[in-house]
Amino acid sequence: MESTLTARDRVGVQDFVLLENYTSEAAFIENLRRRFGEKLIYTYIGSVLVSVNPYKDLEIYSKAHMERYRGVSFYEISPHIYAVSDNTYRAMRTERRDQCILISGESGAGKTEASKKILQYYATTCPVTDHMSTIRDRLLQSNPVLEAFGNAKTLRNDNSSRFGKYMDVQFDFRGAPIGGHILNYLLEKSRVVHQNHGERNFHIFYQLLEGGEQDQLSKLGLERNAQKYHYLVKGCCPRVSSINDKSDWKTVRKALTVIGFHEEEDLLNIIASVLHLGNTQFGEGEDGETQITTESHLTYLSKVRTSNMNSTSSHRLTHSLILHFKGRCPLSFEQAVAARDALAKAVYGRAFTWLVAKINQSLAFKDEVYNSSKGSSSVIGLLDIYGFEVFQHNSFEQFCINYCNEKLQQLFIKLTLKSEQEEYEAEGITWEPVKYFDNKIICDLVEEKHKGFISILDEECLRPGEPSDISFLEKLEDTLGGHAHFVTHKLANGKTRKAVGREEFRLIHYAGEVNYTVNGELANQSVNSRTAGSVICQSDNQILSQCFHREEVTTQKRPETAATQFKNSLAKLIEILMSKEPSYVRCIKPNDAKQSGRFDEALVRHQVKYLGLMENLRVRRAGFAYRRRYEAFLQRYKSLCPGTWPNWQGRLADGVATLVQHLGYKAEEYKLGKTKIFIRFPKTLFTTEDALEAR
Ligand code: ADP
Ligand code: MG
Repeated sequence: MESTLTARDRVGVQDFVLLENYTSEAAFIENLRRRFGEKLIYTYIGSVLVSVNPYKDLEIYSKAHMERYRGVSFYEISPHIYAVSDNTYRAMRTERRDQCILISGESGAGKTEASKKILQYYATTCPVTDHMSTIRDRLLQSNPVLEAFGNAKTLRNDNSSRFGKYMDVQFDFRGAPIGGHILNYLLEKSRVVHQNHGERNFHIFYQLLEGGEQDQLSKLGLERNAQKYHYLVKGCCPRVSSINDKSDWKTVRKALTVIGFHEEEDLLNIIASVLHLGNTQFGEGEDGETQITTESHLTYLSKVRTSNMNSTSSHRLTHSLILHFKGRCPLSFEQAVAARDALAKAVYGRAFTWLVAKINQSLAFKDEVYNSSKGSSSVIGLLDIYGFEVFQHNSFEQFCINYCNEKLQQLFIKLTLKSEQEEYEAEGITWEPVKYFDNKIICDLVEEKHKGFISILDEECLRPGEPSDISFLEKLEDTLGGHAHFVTHKLANGKTRKAVGREEFRLIHYAGEVNYTVNGELANQSVNSRTAGSVICQSDNQILSQCFHREEVTTQKRPETAATQFKNSLAKLIEILMSKEPSYVRCIKPNDAKQSGRFDEALVRHQVKYLGLMENLRVRRAGFAYRRRYEAFLQRYKSLCPGTWPNWQGRLADGVATLVQHLGYKAEEYKLGKTKIFIRFPKTLFTTEDALEAR
């Protein structure tokens, strides 16, 4: 077994903390590149795992590999996702503290694969009785279901998760998985009605059309041809070579069975109704009013809605699509199209949330037999969520994702510094203040009451009349102008800044600058598609009637905007994460071509920046580069000193003191704590390593 305490791997350093020139981005990337070239895709920054997507199956995930990482100390063996999984698990077991693993990175970087590997590790290595194997299977099977409904083929990733996911896995006092819970964030609903060129809608639509049985499709009024559906042809990409929709459909059906799902018919009806909605077209009547021209789809929609359909309900749905909510005033053609699309998005989005709730019911810890152990159970949370996103055009979606990452960075800073400080205190070493950029100022800029970005957005969305992008931008300027992290095209001297467009504002995030476009979408975040909701809440479809509550659509209360909803759900997430001990996995995509063996330096540099890795490293390296427990340190290096060889008999601390004195360590190079030696610079350690090798 490759078990060494060495800091250096076969190639480069296995922990960036040990880079000689730790402030150099070039050195950082060179270390990544060299390791990647040797198929060493994992490297640490302290306890943070950096992973580069290999884009091919490496032989490092076998059961034997899992066994190899079980119970082994973090640094004794090459960095691996299993080391993080195991370390987290053991910390939960021994310290009885809830844990969480935060996985971030851009689309296609390998986040979801990493979270699956962690889950597989637990499913394989944790103790489990027959009785509990059901929960284990359900935990594993929740993935294919969520992926069918929440993943899609994009230009960056053939199986891109279009939602953020936080999953708790609950373990009993014996360390066996006994339950789970999932929280979902920011499903990209716009994909339901529109896809960019080369991209697809969510997998489930194609799976149903390809894999569904003929009579099933007939019942749903569907044809086995994705080309027939407007919502499926926008990206001109019906088939993907790496995807087999037909067999995936079988997998999903099987997974639904394992989860114990009984509402399949209603769920299929919803998928079908979204497709029918998409094919509902509008035209102009004799008096120029907007009319629905595709009766057959509407008929189907009414049928789904209620089994004892009557002409009034059909009428009401028609009206809801072509008339304003309260008045009789007809919608224009464009407005009718927008209302239709809004309805499709709302229906799909809510069905997705419902599905997550359903999976949660099935994963819920509920066995009376284990009730006695309930109090002593612990949790490992897995967060799989987008890293910073910067495109040519950035909209509300990128804003939310990047705001989320600011919050996670804030959490990282707080918790890392806190744990560093705690360790120094526990070891009796004086804490030296660390220089780093605290991004709290940016979080405040976004979320502060009354004068933060979201407050201003809310005001604009909720005031009577149509929200206006321009007046929104002006208000932003009035309130936030002059803030060090907020910039518009206006310069203080009355001139115009070229780098920011007239319909844009720029936020200076901790990871870099991003220009956001205010283009209707942003100022139009009020989430009330009340009109159609009022019809749908009367539906006989169990799922739909549960998704759209009657009170919600009839209430006169000010609705929450999407931004506020997101802010609140994020605050809850942070609270959950704060209560746990975190580990981090940062994923990097080596090239845009999804090819193995290619390392595009510019692309990687970009991600190193937006993942804040250099900042991570700075925080980690602020004090000491390397620390080891006395016994481990002594065990490895005792042969270098006659005084400690072959065995040191006295106190461990004295042995280490004798050893480093013999090695000529200078006072400023190290400190001795209660149980560990702290070494400030990597060079000191490497000199010692070289001496060991030279023997
Ligand atoms: P993300 O969730 O970050 O968008 P995924 O986890 O879906 O990215 O990974 C994208 C693709 O990259 C996967 O479908 C798989 O083909 C490949 N991939 C990711 N991680 C690994 C890995 N550890 N080993 C092999 N292939 C991987
Ligand atoms: Mg993913």
